[in-house]
Amino acid sequence: MRVPEIDTLAIVGLGLIGSSIARGARQYGLAKSIVAIDRDPAVLERVRALGLADSVTDAVAEGVANADLVILCTPVGAVGAVAEAMGGALKTGAIVSDVGSVKGSVVAAVSPHLPEGVAFVPAHPVAGTEYSGPDAGFSTLFSGRWCILTPPEGTSPEAVARVQAFWEGLGAIVESMTPEHHDLVLAITSHVPHLIAYNIVGTAADLEEVTQSEVIKFSAGGFRDFTRIAASDPTMWRDVFLTNKDAVLEMLGRFNEDLAALARAIRWGDGDALHELFTRTRTIRRGIVALGQETAEPDFGRGRPSGTPVSKPD
Ligand code: NAP
Repeated sequence: MRVPEIDTLAIVGLGLIGSSIARGARQYGLAKSIVAIDRDPAVLERVRALGLADSVTDAVAEGVANADLVILCTPVGAVGAVAEAMGGALKTGAIVSDVGSVKGSVVAAVSPHLPEGVAFVPAHPVAGTEYSGPDAGFSTLFSGRWCILTPPEGTSPEAVARVQAFWEGLGAIVESMTPEHHDLVLAITSHVPHLIAYNIVGTAADLEEVTQSEVIKFSAGGFRDFTRIAASDPTMWRDVFLTNKDAVLEMLGRFNEDLAALARAIRWGDGDALHELFTRTRTIRRGIVALGQETAEPDFGRGRPSGTPVSKPD
């Protein structure tokens, strides 16, 4: 199906996600013209050099004035201020969307600043990497990945359909739910796992009996996968935890109870309980692979990392 082209697309925040949208919109012909808006002159310079947009500016109101679709791609803590700065400049009929990893707080922060005649269709592409900035983006980032829309009640169905078509044009699979449900689901599938990764890497780094160099040297045994997640953008993740506080704390409470049960099983030598859990969790992993959201290759198909000493044949 041919996706209807947007005349002018404005992207605010040209980091990993914003620059990936710009690249995809270009590559798949989703917008006639792209305006890149960012507060960082170095980012705008890179956007210019990479040819990601038709025009670049640090002036939000000026940048969005002619836009048919505006996508906010800043950290979630900044969307309210951006919406306030641009609200009065939006043209009637424009659609505003975002990509924030938290939805309830984004709806609360953005909606009050949007004038009559402007639709708001919040979105969250469940795709990303641990890298940031305009050089980190790529056009296929969203291909085969979920994008969750959380339109507030009463949002124009045409606006929702346009945003859905746009994300499908980028290769995403679109699903809709309420902001509250989104925040609860993502708390357990994304936010708490990131918190656990930040915590375990922090704990290992602080251990006095183990040196930093040993932590790095022997990291292959599971720890390495946590370090990838724990390398994620500090500003973005600070904002996620501060804006999805209730759902994260709720899920963390459940997590702590289950962890205490596991500790008890280990203490009392309850191998059956451990085996039963580890068998169930394996099924979850296979389900994710079966849905095409992860590779089935051993060790994520990484092979031997460069710099690893190769053992010599005897
Ligand atoms: P990023 O690479 O750090 O890029 C964010 C960009 O927004 C930076 O250039 C930043 O500039 C700019 N910015 C910040 N505040 C601004 C403001 N007030 N006005 C204009 N520009 C501003 O971040 P990202 O990883 O693309 O994440 C962006 C959004 O996508 C976040 O809301 C995040 O929750 C969501 N998301 C991320 C992922 C992921 O895996 N990374 C996945 C799905 C959704 P400065 O450098 O000057 O701050």
